Amino acid sequence: MDRIDPKLLETAQAAYTDVHLFIDGAWCAGSKGRTIPVLNPATGAPIATVARAEIADLDRALAAADRGFKQWRKVAAFDRYKIMRKAGELLRARAEGIALLMSMENGKPLIDAKMETLAAADLIDWFAEEGRRAYGRIVPARADGIHQLVFKEPVGPVAAFTPWNFPINQVVRKLSGALAAGCSIIIKAPEETPASPAQLVQAFVDAGVPAGVVNLVYGVPSEISEYLIPHPVIRKITFTGSTPVGKQLAALAGLHMKRITMELGGHAPAIVFEDANVERAAKLLAGAKFRNAGQVCVSPTRLLVQEKVYEQFVTTFVAAAKKFKVGSGIEAGVQMGPLANERRVISMEALVADALKHGAKIATGGKRMSGPGFDGGFFFEPTVLTDVPLSARIMNEEPFGPVVPISTFKDFDDVVAEANRLPWGLAAYAYTSSLKTAGAIGAAFESGMVSINHHGLALPEIPFGGIKDSGFGSEGGSEAIEAYLNTKMITQMGL
Ligand code: NAD
Repeated sequence: MDRIDPKLLETAQAAYTDVHLFIDGAWCAGSKGRTIPVLNPATGAPIATVARAEIADLDRALAAADRGFKQWRKVAAFDRYKIMRKAGELLRARAEGIALLMSMENGKPLIDAKMETLAAADLIDWFAEEGRRAYGRIVPARADGIHQLVFKEPVGPVAAFTPWNFPINQVVRKLSGALAAGCSIIIKAPEETPASPAQLVQAFVDAGVPAGVVNLVYGVPSEISEYLIPHPVIRKITFTGSTPVGKQLAALAGLHMKRITMELGGHAPAIVFEDANVERAAKLLAGAKFRNAGQVCVSPTRLLVQEKVYEQFVTTFVAAAKKFKVGSGIEAGVQMGPLANERRVISMEALVADALKHGAKIATGGKRMSGPGFDGGFFFEPTVLTDVPLSARIMNEEPFGPVVPISTFKDFDDVVAEANRLPWGLAAYAYTSSLKTAGAIGAAFESGMVSINHHGLALPEIPFGGIKDSGFGSEGGSEAIEAYLNTKMITQMGL
């Protein structure tokens, strides 16, 4: 890649300003004025700072969320819907500018950042509409004159914790679900990518969400979660991130009997049967694997290809990997940006070194990228490994980066055992031209989401969530709003 165009970088840099907390309807600094630097992952250089919340700030956010909930729950579902739809429209109108901020802080290509912003508007629309359909029911009684009524009520103030890989998307599912149900929310958004979630919150503010209903904080993640989760004001915890952290937060929530939604890691198997359209499967899987530089919880992670078509698959997949244009996300035509932080590059290097030690071969990539346009940034080559034994770490740990192992399998039972071997169960993929195999593999996967012959996950109207170590609950489809609702039964005798 050429050096990043300095003019482009300068314009983007000028657009990116310091990010503040949003508490009780106002943007503010942390009470001690402390900040955290935000880096551009394409250059490694600081671009701005984000305010760090102290306990005093969290107390203000909690008091605001408490007041906000009491007010927002009384707003009619129809009026909540109108405000939310307006926020969605504002987001659409601002998508270009927001995408630039997201690309600067996360590294993803501008086009992906824009698509994420537009997809967020679709999610807001979906939840806004679902809020109007949070129906209760009437249960026929056993005696005349008795009415048994079932109501859905908002669960209460929500504490949400979201990661940096999809800075807006991870927030919007929680924020929209909570608001549609009538809850208030305190969001602890990612310190590494703070500006685009702040823009999302601004769209809701400009659309007319009352003060206190939405609060946004940044700071030391463990400090904030340990304070908010046990706090009596908070009634619901929702987290997206790694499985170890999710387990810690779920345990703390359990101790305080708080409801949870946990969207955690995965290690998605992607199976290519010998009767599949191998060329198409290889190209689609390469696109899905290297999207967002592999930092996607539903990324195809272990590619399992039937022996007869293995060579053909690897050749096509490697050719597709080599074609990926890697560079700064703000450059035109770039398909894969840097990783979001230095930790991920170190992780990729360690996973590749470990695989090689176990006898794996590198079909393409394998290294951190350097030279003009890459120096200082967190770039890693799109990497394909073959001959990777099950003992290698990458066959057992979520890589969350642009490194992928491709292995062979003999028959259906073989591959099902391998697909279900790990403790995760988020996403699973299969390619086959046989309806019978498609049906059988769909049933056999231990996974919350299965996509066969295409990549069709994450639309607003379909469930999104995992089982086993991948978490609990759904952030899409009609299940998603349930996560923010309590069920109340009233049995009433007319006198
Ligand atoms: P990490 O486990 O330190 O953090 C993951 C996320 O959780 C971050 O947003 C972080 O701010 C937050 N977090 C960490 N500790 C927390 C705590 N005690 N309380 C509240 N929030 C906390 O890992 P990382 O280095 O940032 O990311 C690497 C791993 O995280 C990946 O390997 C992947 O498994 C996982 N991850 C998953 C998703 C997803 O979409 N499911 C997204 C990002 C990261």
